[in-house]
Amino acid sequence: MLNLIIFGPPGSGKGTQSKNIIEAFELVHLSTGDILRGEVANQTPLGLEAKKLMDAGQLVPDEVVIGMIRNKLNDNPEAKGFIFDGFPRTTAQAEALDKLLSENEANIDVFLSLEVPEDELMRRLLERGKIEGRADDNEETIQNRINEYKNKTKPVADYYTDKGKFVGIHGDRKIDEIFAEIKEEVEKHL
Ligand code: AMP
Repeated sequence: MLNLIIFGPPGSGKGTQSKNIIEAFELVHLSTGDILRGEVANQTPLGLEAKKLMDAGQLVPDEVVIGMIRNKLNDNPEAKGFIFDGFPRTTAQAEALDKLLSENEANIDVFLSLEVPEDELMRRLLERGKIEGRADDNEETIQNRINEYKNKTKPVADYYTDKGKFVGIHGDRKIDEIFAEIKEEVEKHL
């Protein structure tokens, strides 16, 4: 199995690079943001609850996203591997993920961290807000999301650094150049 985490602040290109990675390596893409937006669109009780937090740029509770990931892992017993996108976002989520994977005698192979300056993040997200109309891509919510990232999510990078899994990727370049470097890193774990 090949299990990757694509990490970085909102707007760093995790979704874009995940698409490239799943095509090249035939992994199952698990994006907690996409799953949550699906719940919101279907107006499930979970979606209605999560929407308030998402619209405010705050994280949804750990138990909620950990439960979603547990279900997706169970739904895909034949997967060659997974790419975790937007998860884990807290150290509690990282610990829970390790536990879930170890139950299946699997682990995280590599933690790819996309590094992009803050002013570029804001520029990209405002642009995406205009094009895709995502409710949380407005200036106030973006700032809250970046703050949540700094306070709660950044420590996740230390967690994987301590485990020797951290790889930093300069994310303020052309999409293809970034992907070429990611591909090289992933190939080391095949
Ligand atoms: P994303 O599409 O990854 O930027 O996620 C959009 C929003 O969904 C975030 O701002 C959070 O409100 C919520 N969300 C997504 N993934 C997580 C997670 N792993 N933990 C907590 N909240 C999350």
